[in-house]
Amino acid sequence: MTTSAVAPGWTGEASAHAGISVRCQNVVHIYTTVAGHDVVALRGVNLDIAPGEQVALLGPSGSGKSTLLGLFGGLQRASAGQVIVDGVDVSRIPEAELTRLRAGKVASLLQGARRNLLTYATAAGNVSFARRAMPAAEVRRLPSPRQLLEMLGLGELTDTPVNAMSGGEQQRVALAVTVSSGAGLLLADEPTSQLGHTDRDTMVDLIQRVNAELGTTVVIVTHDPDIAARIPRRVTIRNGRIGSEGVHGRDYAVIDQDGAVHLPEDWIQDYPPGSLVEFEETEDGFFVRRVDHAPGNPR
Ligand code: ADP
Ligand code: MG
Repeated sequence: MTTSAVAPGWTGEASAHAGISVRCQNVVHIYTTVAGHDVVALRGVNLDIAPGEQVALLGPSGSGKSTLLGLFGGLQRASAGQVIVDGVDVSRIPEAELTRLRAGKVASLLQGARRNLLTYATAAGNVSFARRAMPAAEVRRLPSPRQLLEMLGLGELTDTPVNAMSGGEQQRVALAVTVSSGAGLLLADEPTSQLGHTDRDTMVDLIQRVNAELGTTVVIVTHDPDIAARIPRRVTIRNGRIGSEGVHGRDYAVIDQDGAVHLPEDWIQDYPPGSLVEFEETEDGFFVRRVDHAPGNPR
């Protein structure tokens, strides 16, 4: 696997194969607080994301979504397990390679559009600035700032200074700038949380356009069901584990490494923690039944 300073992602040609893959194997992440306490944020996450896939990470506050995104982006290292981004275990690589990963292969959209932008510069100026550290030969292979902004439907903002844009426009330009160096993986943590309805929908349009035009793999954290509904694959994190997966409108339970079944959110009402259940095989699959007493073990 090469570790060139430049992203191997899209090179100006709209390609459906430019996205990079992510694979988590038994990922555990533990924070040690200043008080010396351990907080287990991730407790064995297994997840495979294919190149060019769009995934929404859902789940209650504190469930580990941002931690997982931080591991994908090389902002922190997993305490245990493997986080394989584009074939490389990013929890094991030296700091210099991690820096190159952050600068090239992976684009992280930070919360708050203006943190991603030079506010006095134009949209095109910001794209140029984001590419300043790339070798000239690589930059020539990318669409020009103007072309890129056109491709993403932001052409009319090309020469507008960020300061003169609305909040929604700034957030869209921030996204374009974030992916402008040819990253193969876009990571966005709550990218619509500060936007109104219209801007929020336009932002999702843009994320989908990045995915379609550039082939970028997309992982987006959101707690907004309307946003999630527009992302083809939805993964729910609950208490540091993959809770359930929604694929094309259906919600599936996920079996973890130990064989435990993590039920979808809306099943929990029927089967609260501690419920005794039986699985019964029927002609069309399995049937789950709640029982009051374990068979042969009456209370
Ligand atoms: P989410 O993004 O789903 O809200 P996080 O990944 O931010 O969840 O947090 C997961 C857990 O890790 C929470 O219990 C949170 O309090 C804890 N946590 C997150 N960041 C830190 C940190 N820097 N130090 C200690 N604990 C943290
Ligand atoms: Mg978070």
